[in-house]
Amino acid sequence: MVFEGLADRLQQTIQRIRGKGKVTEEDVNEMMREVRLALLEADVNFKVVKDFVKRVKERAVGQEVMKSLTPGQQVIKVVQEELTELMGGTQSKIAVSNRPPTVIMMVGLQGAGKTTTTGKLSNLLRKKYNRKPLLVAADIYRPAAIKQLETLGKQLNIPVFSLGDQVSPVEIAKQAIEKAKEEHYDYVLIDTAGRLHIDEALMNELKEMKEISNPDEIFLVVDAMTGQDAVNVAQSFNEQLGVTGAILTKLDGDTRGGAALSIKAVTNIPIKFVGMGEKLDQLEDFHPERMASRILGMGDVLTLIEKAQATVDQEKAKELEEKMRTMTFTFDDFLEQLAQVRKLGPLDELISMLPGANKIKGLKDLKIDEKQIKHVEAIIQSMTKEEKIHPEIINASRKKRIAKGSGRPVQEVNRLLKQFEDMKKMFKQMTSMNMKGKKKGFKFPFM
Ligand code: GDP
Ligand code: MG
Repeated sequence: MVFEGLADRLQQTIQRIRGKGKVTEEDVNEMMREVRLALLEADVNFKVVKDFVKRVKERAVGQEVMKSLTPGQQVIKVVQEELTELMGGTQSKIAVSNRPPTVIMMVGLQGAGKTTTTGKLSNLLRKKYNRKPLLVAADIYRPAAIKQLETLGKQLNIPVFSLGDQVSPVEIAKQAIEKAKEEHYDYVLIDTAGRLHIDEALMNELKEMKEISNPDEIFLVVDAMTGQDAVNVAQSFNEQLGVTGAILTKLDGDTRGGAALSIKAVTNIPIKFVGMGEKLDQLEDFHPERMASRILGMGDVLTLIEKAQATVDQEKAKELEEKMRTMTFTFDDFLEQLAQVRKLGPLDELISMLPGANKIKGLKDLKIDEKQIKHVEAIIQSMTKEEKIHPEIINASRKKRIAKGSGRPVQEVNRLLKQFEDMKKMFKQMTSMNMKGKKKGFKFPFM
């Protein structure tokens, strides 16, 4: 998961100051030394780091914080607010033209993820925003590029406009927009060619396309794995074309995340979406505040809830929530919930959005694939009714019996029991947080 290293370090650092009843300037300085290192290690632009640290310090040693009753927490709040600000403050939404279609040019270097993201974005626009998109294959240089977009279109059942590779991209864009007007499409997404490096021929072509198609958005697709370089790329595309938004891809990978934290601050281009995987539903709206919370270990419950609401059976979710609240969650519920969660996507991705999730060891390593789910199911099915409700009665000989019954090693039974315990503990944490009213209206529908 992206930001893992940064998140770990920042959380360790802020943990130390959290409960303090009195925070001195020296405490703040010490914390900010750590924060500075953590950001630099995450590959955040050094100037961005410098400004960030300065701003937090100024605010953190100010009156509002020092005089408050919970200075430790106030300092953390300042860090979170500034981190949010760094990434753009509020969510930057996709444009909607009042004279449809809304035209979007997708630009970026080769391999950044343009074509995939074009497909994902059309999917998101249709699914979440209820829009009718048209995909346009304007990368005529890479042999398989048109085919790639057509395949995506077929998978999604979204039409792809193509004139083969003998017509100029500018002409393709022009005709596509005409067609979209006639046939009342809401969005035209133009997938353009990339290069390995920025070159003049490419830029001129993109400029000409911009002239002709008068786009409402020019989205720069950047690979988050490229770190600092992503910022330079963004800067030159922006100078030449006037980029209106960035889409960061491959945030699922094990990148240090510096790009995400630097792009807005350095180039002023807002990040609008983030790619969280290769699959066509793995594009998310970018919310600076939620991302900041994720980085600081406060979780991103809102995104999780949105995901859940889109996929989970609401009745069942309510039931589970009730059980979770009253701590009567059993292994049978666990099975039920596995089935629900499976519909949502990779579990480790979901878990990383939970508050404090990366402090719970067993959970962090809980990567579930189909086979493992089958094993888990087998183990649970080998438990007696009583054991499922009161797993604390499962002693060594019971464990042996369950292992035998499920055909899995005893260690695996142990592991599952441990994970179940951890999960319950986490529920407890979250519900107590809920009761203190910290997150008003916070509901956790399925876990
Ligand atoms: P283009 O050259 O810019 O059009 O890039 P492509 O769309 O062909 O993507 C290049 C590679 O990156 C493909 O293998 C994609 O599956 C992969 N890719 C794109 N977005 C993501 C993402 O968010 N996460 C991951 N893991 N892979 C991605
Ligand atoms: Mg492509």
